[in-house]
Amino acid sequence: MGFLSILSFAHAIVGERVRSGDVVVDATMGNGHDTLFLAGLVGDGGHVYAFDVQPAALAATQARLAAAGVPAARYTLLLRDHAELADALPTDARGAVAAAMFNLGYLPGADHAVTTQPATTLRALDAALATLRVGGALCAVVYPGHPGGAEEAAAVEAWAAALEPERWQAVTYRFLNPRNPPPYVVAVEKRK
Ligand code: SAH
Repeated sequence: MGFLSILSFAHAIVGERVRSGDVVVDATMGNGHDTLFLAGLVGDGGHVYAFDVQPAALAATQARLAAAGVPAARYTLLLRDHAELADALPTDARGAVAAAMFNLGYLPGADHAVTTQPATTLRALDAALATLRVGGALCAVVYPGHPGGAEEAAAVEAWAAALEPERWQAVTYRFLNPRNPPPYVVAVEKRK
């Protein structure tokens, strides 16, 4: 088997953990690719809570979901900082979330100054972990090649590396010899 691309790896680890009827989180909606992927996994009985701070991201995501025919009852698009994730989710989602996806950096095609920031990203990652069920996973794609992205990627990696090993299993998936610093995956599974 050839090595999976970064995005294929992210989708594989999320896809194998999410079942029809599950509740999941897209912490960085962007243009809605992951929101659509997640909405397909959870089916009509499930729900996707998706976050972004830019109205353009919500508009792009809404358009993508509608064009794909995803019923509106399957998702909630929140114009909200993902650092507020714990407050934004219904209380019954706590400890029940099957997967949380992060795709850091800036919205392609929009203002590159609006980018995820290490401080709020780390708060959001902590909040997302607290919502996971046992066997659930958090998957972050980090972008060390973006301005400010190397610091953020290092912060996310250090955050994951410091998690208590009895409760969490943390991995990275990255290509070691590309010409430019490539995006890579930092993923965490809740063990107990
Ligand atoms: N770098 C990826 C796309 C990332 S999109 C690529 O190149 O494909 C990241 C999204 O996160 C953007 O739409 C941005 O608006 C959003 N974002 C930035 N800060 C945020 C925050 N605090 N809470 C939620 N979303 C945020």
